[in-house]
Amino acid sequence: MIKAAFDIKEIRQQFPILQEKVGDYPLVYFDNGASSQKPKIVIDRIKHYYDHENANIHRGVHHLSQISTDNYEIARKQVQLFIGAEHEHEIIFTSGTTEGINLVAQSFCKNLVKGDEIIITEMEHHSNIVPWQMKAEEYGLVLKYIPLLANGELDWGKLDELLTSRTKILSFTHISNSLGTINPAKEIIAKAHANGTKVLLDAAQSLQHTPINVKDLDCDFMVFSGHKVFGPTGVGVLYGKEDMLNAMPPYKGGGDMIKSVTMERTEYNELPFKFEAGTPNIVGGIGLGTALKWLSSLDYEQVQKHEAELLDYATKQLLEIDGARIYGESENKCSILSFLIEGIHPYDIGTLLNQQGIAVRTGHHCTQPVMEFFGIPGTIRASFSLYNTKEEVDLFIAALKKATNMLK
Ligand code: PLP
Repeated sequence: MIKAAFDIKEIRQQFPILQEKVGDYPLVYFDNGASSQKPKIVIDRIKHYYDHENANIHRGVHHLSQISTDNYEIARKQVQLFIGAEHEHEIIFTSGTTEGINLVAQSFCKNLVKGDEIIITEMEHHSNIVPWQMKAEEYGLVLKYIPLLANGELDWGKLDELLTSRTKILSFTHISNSLGTINPAKEIIAKAHANGTKVLLDAAQSLQHTPINVKDLDCDFMVFSGHKVFGPTGVGVLYGKEDMLNAMPPYKGGGDMIKSVTMERTEYNELPFKFEAGTPNIVGGIGLGTALKWLSSLDYEQVQKHEAELLDYATKQLLEIDGARIYGESENKCSILSFLIEGIHPYDIGTLLNQQGIAVRTGHHCTQPVMEFFGIPGTIRASFSLYNTKEEVDLFIAALKKATNMLK
């Protein structure tokens, strides 16, 4: 497909919310790591669904049910194409990254035995820590961590030491939500596979910044959330290799995931339905498909260039502020800027920035082990998306200087 030139003005016009004001100030939305805004085409698609197509799927013979089913399955196909999966049935719709990880933790670990090992990292979002801790406790599994380094990278050199013949799965984030670090996923996956270890890649922060091809990466599982890739909330995707998904028991029981039910026993449905019990987020799936189609119309290389310029521009100006310290200085980093100003609590800065229309996130970003490593309560995080501009960075820096002067 021929991609249109990256025209920031034209892109911004597609996001109605960017015209909002916060009091007298124009909204500057730098909280994209938490959730991205939605282009009008996605918002319109959701409205169109409720105006013209709404019905439950997979079970109806009537017109609306068939339309709804067709469009939901088209969305699954769109996801498959977007991430380069081999089969459509390797795409499981979930409620988001968190549910995808919980699904794998629950179903994959059912086949493990006491003393089997799992590796995660000190950089993970809580959603890629807690489900594994819960399963480790339940089944007597050993949970190991790849350590963090002071520059915000992981000490991947330790992987060889941690891998043993009992390491069944390695689960790690592609991009750190609190530091911006981009991990060398392909290389790490190959290393794990050489040890016979399966890999789950948490791509919650990835697809809005960088393309992912699951066949090229060769990950066994990959998870992401719709709301961070310009799609709706409450929907996400678990990709799993066919043989991996077939080997795992279902995660939830209910309608749609069965082939037959008698009083005595249940025969499970085939993929992907085996993992999709109950009425799913139909409009969410369709909206996500639309968002990914929209994202496909853009050129990732131009998006990355634009975001790298924003990061560079903001980083240089931030470092000129007295007492500023950046957390996350990896060479390979995406447009997430986590920082503190010496002597000032991040929450106070976040509050004063908000009073000037700037939306940033403050706190531990659901990565308490990262904060513990640096010995801090949290950071201020400005995370830039493809629709942000240098003019917005200027407003942010000016507001930050004002806040800092007031609080010092
Ligand atoms: N993993 C990472 C790296 C994230 O950044 C997030 C959300 O910020 C999650 C997992 C959890 O995503 P969700 O809350 O959409 O399930």
